[in-house]
Amino acid sequence: MQFSAILGHDAIKKRLIKSVTEQRTAHAQLFFGAEGSAALPLAIAYMQYVSCVDKNENDSCGKCASCTKMQKFIHPDLHFSLPVNWEGPTDKLNTKSFLPQWRQLLSQNPYVGLDEWVEKIDIGNKQPFISNYEVHEQIVSLNVTSYESEYKFLLMWLPEYMRTEGANSLLKTLEEPPDKTLIILVSQDYDRILKTILSRTQLIKIPPYSIDEASQVIHLITQQSKEKCDLAAGVAEGNITQAKWLLENGEEAELQLNLFKEWMRACYSYNIVEQARISENFAKQMREWQKGFFAYALYMVRQTILLNHAATINRVTDSEKSFLEKFSKFFNPGNYATISGFLNDASHHVARNAYGKLLFFDTSLLISEVFRKERERATITS
Ligand SMILES: [Zn+2]
Repeated sequence: MQFSAILGHDAIKKRLIKSVTEQRTAHAQLFFGAEGSAALPLAIAYMQYVSCVDKNENDSCGKCASCTKMQKFIHPDLHFSLPVNWEGPTDKLNTKSFLPQWRQLLSQNPYVGLDEWVEKIDIGNKQPFISNYEVHEQIVSLNVTSYESEYKFLLMWLPEYMRTEGANSLLKTLEEPPDKTLIILVSQDYDRILKTILSRTQLIKIPPYSIDEASQVIHLITQQSKEKCDLAAGVAEGNITQAKWLLENGEEAELQLNLFKEWMRACYSYNIVEQARISENFAKQMREWQKGFFAYALYMVRQTILLNHAATINRVTDSEKSFLEKFSKFFNPGNYATISGFLNDASHHVARNAYGKLLFFDTSLLISEVFRKERERATITS
């Protein structure tokens, strides 16, 4: 990725380029920008620039052997550490196993968000993180001589997802960095990073895009009309990741929301006739749609907990938000976990060919029962 492919941020680009031409490249740098900012694309363009053998004063050449590999994210001296998870043993959890998906996602959209990434690697409800094993492996590889480039690069995306032991190992490396290494941390939340790590890195703050700029960027990525891009960029307040998601999921989200609303109302009021009717409709849909619906329901239920903790929720439409604001009152940590569990099970069963109507109806009854107990408890305590 060349700097020219990233809209705006001229002062930051100049500063980055100057540090290279004046040979003042800091061995550890923290690119900080909120979700949907250009922090990740700028970090990638910067590494390509450092490694390019035919760079000029504005950009990498985009053509040399190094640029060609950097553009495909396959340069042998370019290493990624990413929050991931899997069914396998977590003490061997590593990023390497997920690189094909990462390269694919990045080449489609360098403004990738964590939710999109989690969806891509299909880890369901598991929390993504950067394992201690992963950090250790990366440190080992940084100590090996580079293959082709003058520098070895480690790009750690979302270092806030490291655990304490891993963070401490990384800190040691930052204190005594191997020769000719460049460690780039790309963070969305540096309050969650060890202060000692922050003090060892050079901070580069990437401001969010304005709504106008965001609209131009997503127009380039999605090729949708200017009107649609303007609207999505406005709702997302300049967050590219969210705007792109809204553009791609707007209509589908509305359909799912309506079914979800009807369903939750039927569960809350223990209306079995209505539940049976919705189950019939559900069973008529394709399996992929059914699977998607349970994932959506799980997503919505998860948002209620965020709302109840007064967190801001981003990746929802206006109509979803207004429904969630009312709906979240019926949730607390106890029933949230139970209902999430039911939805998760249902989602697994759909994938394994369960009979749709029965599965949906059973799940409805289970959820109704949770709400019924909740109501009883509320009556007793009030
Ligand atoms: Zn080049």
